[in-house]
Amino acid sequence: MTMDIKTADPVGTDPDTGATDTSAPIDLLGLSRDEMCEALIAAGVPDRQAKMRTAQLWRWIYHHGHQSFDSMTNVAKNLRQDLARRFRISRPEVVNLQISKDGTRKYLLRFADGKEAEMVYIPDQDRGTLCVSSQVGCTLNCRFCYTGTQRLVRNLEAGEIVAQILVARDDLGEWVPSSTAGRRVTNIVMMGMGEPLYNFENVKKALLIVMDKEGIQMSRRRITLSTAGVVPMMQRAGQEIGVNLAVSLHATNDAVRSEIVPLNRKYPLKELLKACQDYPGAHNARRITFEYVMLKGVNDSDDDARELVRLIREYDLPVKVNLIPFNPWDGAAYECSEPERIKRFSSIIFEAGISAPVRTPRGQDIMAACGQLRSASKRQRRQSPGA
Ligand code: SAH
Repeated sequence: MTMDIKTADPVGTDPDTGATDTSAPIDLLGLSRDEMCEALIAAGVPDRQAKMRTAQLWRWIYHHGHQSFDSMTNVAKNLRQDLARRFRISRPEVVNLQISKDGTRKYLLRFADGKEAEMVYIPDQDRGTLCVSSQVGCTLNCRFCYTGTQRLVRNLEAGEIVAQILVARDDLGEWVPSSTAGRRVTNIVMMGMGEPLYNFENVKKALLIVMDKEGIQMSRRRITLSTAGVVPMMQRAGQEIGVNLAVSLHATNDAVRSEIVPLNRKYPLKELLKACQDYPGAHNARRITFEYVMLKGVNDSDDDARELVRLIREYDLPVKVNLIPFNPWDGAAYECSEPERIKRFSSIIFEAGISAPVRTPRGQDIMAACGQLRSASKRQRRQSPGA
């Protein structure tokens, strides 16, 4: 990391909002502990103090939700001022918040460069799940997914991924008390916009902060990463991140799957199932989730259900199946299977001894349900030479 202290603008914190100066060059959010140590040393903090200061800063940032250095009372006053000149702790702006009649909250977030992505909070009786985005847009083009109609604009940085959780906690008033008791965000699913395994390094870095005891302190058992099946990254995801895995299966043969999830042409079903078999840490007590969107007349027959059971047995997979009623959007070429069909499909799998609950659609009235997220951001055209 390079930092030119001389060019740093000596502007302190903004007294009105308490937020740090967004023009300060380096955002502390998303830095690993080692990176933060280095940044502090480069800013003049003595080597022997750097680790301790990093731990202090992490607690202020991730346990208490502070956005300004002013209030970090265990940090010496002149150091606080130095930090404020050189670093920032920023949040994306919430440009729109919609609340569904079922309590689901959808946030449209604008990042520092103006690009936008959505995030969803889904409250339940015994838990609150935050659905976090990994990219602005998506490369994948799954035919039934609204996000897939938006091209990939860019990957989100690690700090921008972590910041989504902090924004939710700001909004839900979760910082007091600062302990893990009484939390409203109890679970995190990497199931928002984007394919997390196509932004592996940033997602990994972000989730390591989420799981860190000095970070957001969330157990890996409460975090799920969903992939459309980026086979070559699955092993590393298990080894290096180690969270629960969900796989967007959606079909039981290559013909149908390649049509609705074009990524299947690159990584066909057999390779995907083999990668699931090899997923580190998957066993009966910690099963992989197969997501299966119910598309009328496409993938919802009794034969499909039986074939799914057969494949799960053939590969001896520790899985549960999550049936997702298709969530409609304008211009979609599919319809949702009838409720009776979904029930029958579920019972065939269930009778084979495999759990197959139907996911209750949440936040449909505000387009917050699975596969309904999208933002207006577009990829910038390359500027023509001389422009
Ligand atoms: N790219 C990752 C993360 C997205 S998770 C992945 O594909 O797994 C979002 C989940 O919702 C995926 O299982 C996706 O296939 C599913 N989904 C997409 N569009 C949907 C729709 N219209 N109705 C229901 N589920 C949908």
